[in-house]
Amino acid sequence: MDFTAIPVVAQAPNREACFAEAARLAVRMVAEKRRVTVIAADFDEAAELKRLLGQDDRGLGVRVITFDLWLEDAWQLWGDGRSLVEPSQRLALAWQVAAEAPDLPAQPATMAPWLARAARQALPWLCDAPLRALEGSEPAVTEALRLYSEALEVRGLVEHSQACWLLGQPCHARPGADEALVLAGQWPVQLPLAQQWLFGKLGAVAVANGRTAPSRPGGELGQLLGRLYGSRSEAVSPGGALRVALATGKTAELQLLAETVAALAETDFGAAEGETALAYRVVVADTDPVGLFELLRANRETGKLHLLVRGPVAFSDTFAGRFVAAWAAAPQGGLPVWEDLAANPLSGLRQQTLLSLSRQWAANRALGAAEALRMLANESPTARALLEASGGSVATMVDGLRAAVAALPIDEGRKLVELSALSAFAGLARQMLFGSCFESAVELCADVHIPVSLESAPAADGAAGEAPVLLCDLATAAQLPAGCARALLLTKMNRDERPGGITAGSLEALLSKFALPDQQEGAQLLRQRLWDALNVPTEAVVLERSLTDAAGEPAYPHFLMQEVTDCFRADPTCSDDLLRDSQLPRVLAPYCSTLAETRFLHCLGVDEGAPAAVEEAQLPMGQVGERWRPFIALPKTEGANGGAMRLSPSAIESFLSCPYLWFVQRRLALQDTEEGFGPLERGTFVHEVMQRFYQQLVEGQVPRVTPDNLEESRALLAQVFREVVEAQEGHEAGRRYVAVTPWEQRLREGLLPQLSGALGQQSRWLPGFAPAYHEWHYGFDQPVPYAGQHLCGSVDRIDVDGNGRAVVIDYKTSLDDGYRLMALAAEEGEEPQPQLPRKVQALIYAQVVRQLLGLEVVATLYLNPLTGEVEGAYDGLVLGPAQIEGFPPKGISVQEAGFPSFGELLTWVEETVGERLGQLFAGEIAPCPADAQACKYCPALSCERRLG
Ligand code: SF4
Repeated sequence: MDFTAIPVVAQAPNREACFAEAARLAVRMVAEKRRVTVIAADFDEAAELKRLLGQDDRGLGVRVITFDLWLEDAWQLWGDGRSLVEPSQRLALAWQVAAEAPDLPAQPATMAPWLARAARQALPWLCDAPLRALEGSEPAVTEALRLYSEALEVRGLVEHSQACWLLGQPCHARPGADEALVLAGQWPVQLPLAQQWLFGKLGAVAVANGRTAPSRPGGELGQLLGRLYGSRSEAVSPGGALRVALATGKTAELQLLAETVAALAETDFGAAEGETALAYRVVVADTDPVGLFELLRANRETGKLHLLVRGPVAFSDTFAGRFVAAWAAAPQGGLPVWEDLAANPLSGLRQQTLLSLSRQWAANRALGAAEALRMLANESPTARALLEASGGSVATMVDGLRAAVAALPIDEGRKLVELSALSAFAGLARQMLFGSCFESAVELCADVHIPVSLESAPAADGAAGEAPVLLCDLATAAQLPAGCARALLLTKMNRDERPGGITAGSLEALLSKFALPDQQEGAQLLRQRLWDALNVPTEAVVLERSLTDAAGEPAYPHFLMQEVTDCFRADPTCSDDLLRDSQLPRVLAPYCSTLAETRFLHCLGVDEGAPAAVEEAQLPMGQVGERWRPFIALPKTEGANGGAMRLSPSAIESFLSCPYLWFVQRRLALQDTEEGFGPLERGTFVHEVMQRFYQQLVEGQVPRVTPDNLEESRALLAQVFREVVEAQEGHEAGRRYVAVTPWEQRLREGLLPQLSGALGQQSRWLPGFAPAYHEWHYGFDQPVPYAGQHLCGSVDRIDVDGNGRAVVIDYKTSLDDGYRLMALAAEEGEEPQPQLPRKVQALIYAQVVRQLLGLEVVATLYLNPLTGEVEGAYDGLVLGPAQIEGFPPKGISVQEAGFPSFGELLTWVEETVGERLGQLFAGEIAPCPADAQACKYCPALSCERRLG
């Protein structure tokens, strides 16, 4: 294509020099009797250029304008009568085309922004014949662009790139033929392609910012800029003008940000000689300035500051954007999405209502999205507005939402931002002429940017007339005049948190096939923005990042952060001078502040905040600080002399597995409140099936399952299984196995063949015994003493023979070695030493059965009804492995474990448990796992004693 290069007539060393040079050039041209227009990158730069031109009488005749406004003017004068397409029209039309065009490589919501970007760049060229063969989905994409062009035509619209192309044709009445065009501060190769092409045709010239010398030379920051952009070869000497703030996690990062902003705002740097009042105390370049504004306002240290937010924010980063996105995702998203929706400030819920709703939703997995949204709508006016308008058009829904948001009692500035965001969304929805649905509009609008202007009132006790703290993105910070703030804070300088190092994408590959020139962008643009932003502060720059991401995984520094900190190293290719975890040069360590995540975990072991450090030792566990002890509710006690604790065998087992596990599970109640579909629920379900099956078997006058009645028993089991499945939804949440998805239903159905198969084993084991008790409860009416405490609980099943001998059976749907009776290896000739198994429930039950039912217990067995596997203990004088099919070869009798009888084993277990419970009474809850299995499902995730 016939691209004429735009000549760079002057290359200034920095932004200020560049504008001054552009103004001088324009004035010279005016002096030559030419009509001059200066094209600025944005309104702020246009304003600055006008101010400079205003300093010379001849400059008053110069027109300063942004490109978009210049094009609008030119098209009105010289165009063909069609209207320039607006951003929302472009996106909506691209979506419409993407929804209809065949063979596109992605969904319409993904393709539409891509097509819109391509069209704005170079539509006429991309609709022409390519110079090189198209591959893959490129023909489909170019066909979609052709359809987009037709769709514009039909509507009497014209794309910006088409307007440029038409205005630059030789046959066309040329706009500005007598006009000298000067591009100020912009590199021609970074302009959109069609703009480059047109300005090349119109003979424009550029005054570019070469970024070769800082606006304020000297000092550490001046040295830094010099080293960063090549004019200085020696390493910068650190002196505190460049600082680093590191958090060890995302929770700590929020507090670190607040502390850093507060410290920078309060530091008295002292006014430099001849310095005029600064526009800002601190400029904070963040990835989510609106979110940061909320955070800083709510923080004790920064809430009193005068805060400003300026610049564009993505629709998806506004509360309104998050609210409609969560609403669109609610039908499929489940609990996390409903909670997001309820927690959004636009829901207008009080914290208590939010928690109550969240608990109700979490505890009921049978709840559908429709019911969850109805519950939310009962409490939230915005949810109610959306629900009432659903079924209507997207625009009607958004109008309802806007009215509800307008009535919310939230900060007026914030409300304006949210209402603007919703207006943009409604505008886009109205442009989507056919088949538009709420979800598509939300997806499409996610990246639309909304101009934001927010301001907090400074505290009454703040110093009058103090400059505000500006929160913005990096692009906005880069456009600020040099030296307009004392300090600059660049936040979240991690690779995954800031886009960067953009490589050539699919659009660039396609453009090259139409012989369109490469554009400089990506990493180079980011470097230029960093350079411009680093020129903004007069005194200090702070780079902030978290060393870990939200999941606690290591996070890596952004390349811009590395490039800046490398300036303090003599040899950046050698890594000996880097700190191990932070990857910072050692020389910057004195200027690095840190904040550890652990400071914000209100650990029971710590009465005061722990000292902050990057690599902080784990806080002590297993102790309770004085301050927190009154908050701990101990188990209920009964009886005289301080009483005995009422404990269940499973609580005792939990304490024996690990005292701290007992503490976090039973006292802190750290278990998930969400109703699940896991092993716990499956176990509850299987228990119910087995209990009902044996109950109905006995009611049918069949004493037990035998090989003779196995088939009838299996038929009964299938019938009971069905009944239990049907009863699940009616059960109390948390005590049921509710299958929501087809996959879960298949999983649950798969249990019947397993139960049925294992019934064969039960038909053959324990000859002479028959089930006599199912779900036998004890200790609820009358205290049952055990090991000095009181027991209560229930036994799954007790099988009894004609001689009054009993086998205590506990159903478990997974078994391991912890259920097995074992003896410690003894020296030759010595008696084996008994060892308390990790799982002792059945042995505790057995003692109760002896006491209350007067039966002689001869075995305590854990049976897996799904596999027929068995673990536990048996009296070798009464039973043997032959009568306990499923018992493992490694299992031993009580005699092999060193006990003459089963009764003596039970007495020893009770005594041993009594000793251990004494430790519990003494408040000893330090982590001490019985084995690695104890730690497997323990919720104390950061425990330093964790095994396995
Ligand atoms: S992780 Fe293991 S040692 Fe730590 S508290 Fe949990 S069970 Fe005990």
